[in-house]
Amino acid sequence: MNLFMRVIVATLVSVFALSSCGEEKFSKYQCPMKCEQEKTYDKPGTCPVCGMKLKGIK
Ligand SMILES: [Zn+2]
Repeated sequence: MNLFMRVIVATLVSVFALSSCGEEKFSKYQCPMKCEQEKTYDKPGTCPVCGMKLKGIK
């Protein structure tokens, strides 16, 4: 029983690691400095004001 549980846990951990390692899907992107207040973008990129990489928002 213990071995079975270990296999389950190991499988879950590896699936979680793979999914977190892959490119995350965000619906919106926003400047981390909020140069444009709450303005969000549909695609990843850089802020036109400060040039920082936009932060994904779930
Ligand atoms: Zn900015």
